Amino acid sequence: MADIESILKEERVFLPPSQFASAARIKSLDEYARLYERAAREPEGFWAEVAKELHWFSPWTQVLDWNPPWAKWFVGAKTNLAYNCLDRHLGTPRKNKAALIWEGEPGDRRTVTYQQLHREVCRFANVLSRLGIRPGDRVMIYMPLIPEIAVAMLACARVGATHSVVFGGFSAEALRDRTNDAGAKLVITADGGYRRGKVVPLKANVDQAVKDTPTVENVIVVKRTGESIAWVPGRDHYWHEVIEAASDKHDAVPLDSEHPLFILYTSGTTGKPKGIVHTTGGYMVGTYLSTKWVFDIKEEDTFWCTADVGWVTGHSYVVYGPLSNGATTMMYEGAPDHPEPDRFWRLIDAYDVSIFYTAPTAIRSFIRWGEQWPMKHDLTSLRLLGTVGEPINPEAWMWYHKVLGGGRCPIVDTWWQTETGAIMVSPLPGATPTKPGSCTRPLPGVVADVVAKDGRSLGPNEGGYLVIKKPWPSMLRTIHGDPDRYVKQYFSEIPGVYFAGDGARRDADGYFWVMGRVDDVINVAGHRLGTMEIESAIVSHPKVAEAAVVGRPDELKGQGIVAFVTLKKGNDPRPELQDMLREHVAKEIGALARPDEIRFTEALPKTRSGKIMRRLLKEIASTGAAKGDTTTLEDMSVLLRLSTSSEEE
Ligand code: ATP
Ligand code: MG
Repeated sequence: MADIESILKEERVFLPPSQFASAARIKSLDEYARLYERAAREPEGFWAEVAKELHWFSPWTQVLDWNPPWAKWFVGAKTNLAYNCLDRHLGTPRKNKAALIWEGEPGDRRTVTYQQLHREVCRFANVLSRLGIRPGDRVMIYMPLIPEIAVAMLACARVGATHSVVFGGFSAEALRDRTNDAGAKLVITADGGYRRGKVVPLKANVDQAVKDTPTVENVIVVKRTGESIAWVPGRDHYWHEVIEAASDKHDAVPLDSEHPLFILYTSGTTGKPKGIVHTTGGYMVGTYLSTKWVFDIKEEDTFWCTADVGWVTGHSYVVYGPLSNGATTMMYEGAPDHPEPDRFWRLIDAYDVSIFYTAPTAIRSFIRWGEQWPMKHDLTSLRLLGTVGEPINPEAWMWYHKVLGGGRCPIVDTWWQTETGAIMVSPLPGATPTKPGSCTRPLPGVVADVVAKDGRSLGPNEGGYLVIKKPWPSMLRTIHGDPDRYVKQYFSEIPGVYFAGDGARRDADGYFWVMGRVDDVINVAGHRLGTMEIESAIVSHPKVAEAAVVGRPDELKGQGIVAFVTLKKGNDPRPELQDMLREHVAKEIGALARPDEIRFTEALPKTRSGKIMRRLLKEIASTGAAKGDTTTLEDMSVLLRLSTSSEEE
C-alpha cells in the first residue's frame, strides 16, 4: 500500500534533441545507465576517479569512512577549493577567460577574468590573514550580489576560514542570530545594495546586529552605493583600502578534505532554519561533477544561475561548481522586474547567455507577467534550461520549454537540498528523455529510492518517502553545534537511510516525481494526497498563475482542501471562477481532490528563496492566523492580508 496516493497523469515525453545529444558529454540513456551501474557497483572507485580530475596537495588514504550516519570522504587528503577554482586554470588557455560576468541593478557592468579573480582572491586572502583569520575561524558574509561576494567566499576557502553567507535581504536580527550561532570573528558587508531601485541598508543592519555579537572583532565594508554610513574606527575597514595594501601573491592553504568549508542555513520552508555544515573535498567533487554533467558545461558557455549566493544554489552553481569547471558564470544583482519585467530577457540577449538556471517560483512570475516580455528579446543564445527549488508544475514546465526555450532547449529539473550540497536527481540533458514535472533519475553515484515508513522500497507509482541509501561526497556532515539533531532530523525517521522530508513516487520508467513535503500531505477521507499534484491541476487552468493547497480539519472527511490561487494578470477573481476551478480539478484528477474552498490572493507567502510556505497557509486556513517561524518569510504583508481577510469572513 502506498503512503501517498498519486492521481496526476502526465504522459508527455521530450527526447533530447539529436544535435544536443551528439555534442553532449553523456550522449544516450545507455551511456547514463552504464555510468550509473558502474558507480553503483563500485562507488568508491567511481568517486575517486572523479576526484582525480581535481588538484590535491596530498592524496587520500581511504576514499570513504562511513560510520553511519557520520561520513568522511577522501580521508587524509589535502586540497583547497579556491585553488581548484582559480590556480588550476592559470596554466591553461582559461587564464584570460571571463570567470565572472556581472551586471548591477543600475546597469553597471564588470567582467573579471580567471587571472584577475585569482589576484583579487589572493589579495583578500592576505587581508583575512592580516586581520588574524586562521583556518577554522568563522566569517559572516552579508553582501549584495556583486563580484566581491565571490571574492570573499573564495578567499575564505583559500585560507581555510569557514564562511557563512547570510542573504542580504535578511534582517539585522537574522544576521545577529546566525553570527552568534556560528561564533564568527569577522563580518564582510557593503554600504548597501540595490533592489528594485532602492538601497538596502546592509551596513546599518550589521551595526545593529554586531551590538550583540561578542565574537565579532572586525567588519569589512565594500563601497557599493556611496550612501553615508556609520563608522566604528578600529572595527570597520573599507574593502578598497585594505585590499589595496595587500599583496596579490598568496599560497592556497592545503586543507584537510574534511575541513569545514561553510555553514549555511536552510530556507526555513518547513520550520526554523537548520545550520548545515559542508566540508571541503567531498563538496568540491560533488559540485564539480554535477555542474559538468547536468549542465553539460562547455568552454564557450555563458552560464547563468539566477539564485542569490545566500542560498545553497548560489554557493554550488553560481560560484564553486562553474569556477571549478573553468566556466564563465554570470551574476545579476537586482530584481527580475526592474525597471520592467523583461530584465532577465534583456540580460540573456545582451550577454548571449547559453544556460539559464532558475526556480519554478520565478517561472510562475514570468508566466503571470505575460509572454510579451520575453517575446521582445532574442533568446536564441539559450541552449539549456534548468529549474530547482520546488516541484515544477507541468504547465509551467511547458511554458518554460515553449516560450523561453523556443521548443529547442532541454530542461533539467534538478532535485536537491541544502543538505545534499549538489544536485542528486536530474536529467542529463543529452541523455535523458524528460517528462514535465519529473526530475527523472538519480545521477550516477546517487542511490535514491522511494520507500514506506518502515524502509521498504515501494513499487511503480506508489507514493512514499524520497530517501538516499548510500553516503555521497557532498552530503552534509552535521548541523552546526547540534550533532544530535543531525542524527534525529535526517537518519532516524526511516531506518538506515537519509531522509529529509520530501514525498515522491517513481513511475514505471524509474522516473522520480516529487509530490511535495511529507509534512504537507493532505488526508482526505482516508486518501493521502501530495500538494504538488492538486496544485498542478489548478495551475493547468489557463487563467491561473500559481496555487498552493493545504488541509484544514473537516469533521466528515478528516481534512478538507483549501486552495490559495493567484491569477494571471488581467483576470478578475470572480466568484464563478471559484466553482470553475473546483470543477476543473475534479475533471483533471478526480472528485476526491476537488478543493472545498478556493481563495484568490495577489501573492502567496514565500521564503526569501522563493518557496511557498504552506505551513503558514495551513495555520491561516484553520485558525485565521499564522503563528509559526516567519524569520525567512519574504513579505510579511502577504501574510497579514491573508489573515485579515479570513477574519472578515
Ligand atoms: P527547510 O529545510 O528549512 O524547511 P527547505 O527544505 O526549503 O527549507 P532548501 O534546502 O533550500 O530548504 O530546499 C530543499 C527542498 O526544496 C527540497 O527538500 C525539496 O522539497 C525542494 N526542491 C528542490 N528542488 C526541487 C525539485 N527539482 N523538485 C521538487 N522539489 C525540489
Ligand atoms: Mg529542507
